[in-house]
Amino acid sequence: MKLTGTIINYYFHCKRQCWLFSNRVNLEDNSEDVHIGRILHQIEHDRKKDTEIKIDNIAIDRITPEYLIEIKKSDADVEATKWQTLFYLKVLSQKGIHRKGKIEFLEKNKQDKKVIFVELDENAIKKLEDLENEINDLVSEATPPNAINNSKCKKCAYYEYCYI
Ligand code: SF4
Repeated sequence: MKLTGTIINYYFHCKRQCWLFSNRVNLEDNSEDVHIGRILHQIEHDRKKDTEIKIDNIAIDRITPEYLIEIKKSDADVEATKWQTLFYLKVLSQKGIHRKGKIEFLEKNKQDKKVIFVELDENAIKKLEDLENEINDLVSEATPPNAINNSKCKKCAYYEYCYI
């Protein structure tokens, strides 16, 4: 299976979500949270027109001479976003494009945005290789992992699928 940034993100968020999405049980359009995320993303994209680029199976929000910039609607899952961005940096680096990662979290109803930085060093590359193997093993399982029963489930696109 060809990994994407979304699959890496979901692996950190919830392994069941990662399995469902990777096995094409796709309920994303039903989620209000995902809908809001797309609108915020579109607003930011329109503001900085023509900066999103697609390479292979990844879509990068912005790229500057120094940074690959990933834009998120909240900082609810920093670890997931960090590894998603590192995955993008790795894909770019394999094409000879070397950048640092800058992640901007746009909070709803807030003027300020939180920014964190990541760099693709040897440790990150090794961890990404391990992650890619773990994810491939997970999504090849015949059935998904159990629901995690966590407060974040209420904001998840799969909530109805998992609990109702
Ligand atoms: S609702 Fe909860 S258990 Fe189900 S996929 Fe989403 S986060 Fe995972």
